[in-house]
Amino acid sequence: MKISYSKYSLELRHQFTISYSSRKSTPIVLIKIEHDRFAGYGEASLPPYLSETQESVIIFLKLISRINIDNISNYKKIINEVDQVLGNNTAAKAAVDIALHDLFGKINEKPCHKLFDLTANNLPLTSFTIGIDEQKILKQKISEAKEFKIFKIKLGTTDDKKIIQFIREETDKPFYVDINQAWSDKYFALEMSEWLHQQNVLLIEQPFNKNDLEKSAWLSARSPIPIIADESVQRFSDIEKIKNSFNGINIKLMKCTGMNEAYQMIVKARENNLKVMMGCMTETSCGINAATQLSSLVDFADLDGNLLITNDPFDAVTVVDGRLHLSKKNGLGITLKESLLFTEL
Ligand code: MG
Repeated sequence: MKISYSKYSLELRHQFTISYSSRKSTPIVLIKIEHDRFAGYGEASLPPYLSETQESVIIFLKLISRINIDNISNYKKIINEVDQVLGNNTAAKAAVDIALHDLFGKINEKPCHKLFDLTANNLPLTSFTIGIDEQKILKQKISEAKEFKIFKIKLGTTDDKKIIQFIREETDKPFYVDINQAWSDKYFALEMSEWLHQQNVLLIEQPFNKNDLEKSAWLSARSPIPIIADESVQRFSDIEKIKNSFNGINIKLMKCTGMNEAYQMIVKARENNLKVMMGCMTETSCGINAATQLSSLVDFADLDGNLLITNDPFDAVTVVDGRLHLSKKNGLGITLKESLLFTEL
């Protein structure tokens, strides 16, 4: 079995602004794991506000290249072993997890969702994210996204109500709002949750600082719409800590080390009556398809990362009429449409 990697930069269609940062591109590392005549692809997306970099991913891949991965039928054991190597590095681990699922699916002639006994039918609608922007550009973004039935709006500015009012002049579609930890006053947050509910907002993501579980619990007990943890929950082990402070969790493969742990998190969330959202970073269709393979299990899908970029190197249909869609092909069902240079470790 052979591992190789390719450094790549995703170009965003629009400058992307959230409550604490703004950017035009996202570095990623694509990986390829080959066995016999099969190749599985994986991806580590590395937004600059998180700690991993292209260099740290490559260092990580060099460390795991010592793990014996020749017995691919043991891919779950390999994923667990990979997780033991060097703390954090969740995006690097996700890249390996995704590539192993893709490879195992191809070798065994099964699409990845079948590896989890899941269906590819009736997948959820995905939201389409609209970053904070001036009114003219917001208007353009909304009109570009006609095909989507749900929007996700990044809030957390002093103009939040104005932004929503402006969007409501353009569209009556429901949407999710993501505060990205920007609120601090719980009474203001409750008033906003009631107002947002009247505006046909379906959920609020991460209103307070990730460590402020007391405020989140207070709001979650009172808000008319679900309060969803994002920054407060990264991995399976975090669910225990936050399960009484939110109404649901946003699972992202890049935060939780990949499909294997994401599946376990969905099961654990259900056991605790938590709603489940499946989210993403800026990613190619590789990462997005991996998350979509599990999406029949979730309440809310926010899997639009590949649609927000202009240079997706993979060819993959992921959205039809606002709804996520999977091909029936084996593995992730994605094809590399550009010849990228992969460097062997
Ligand atoms: Mg979020």
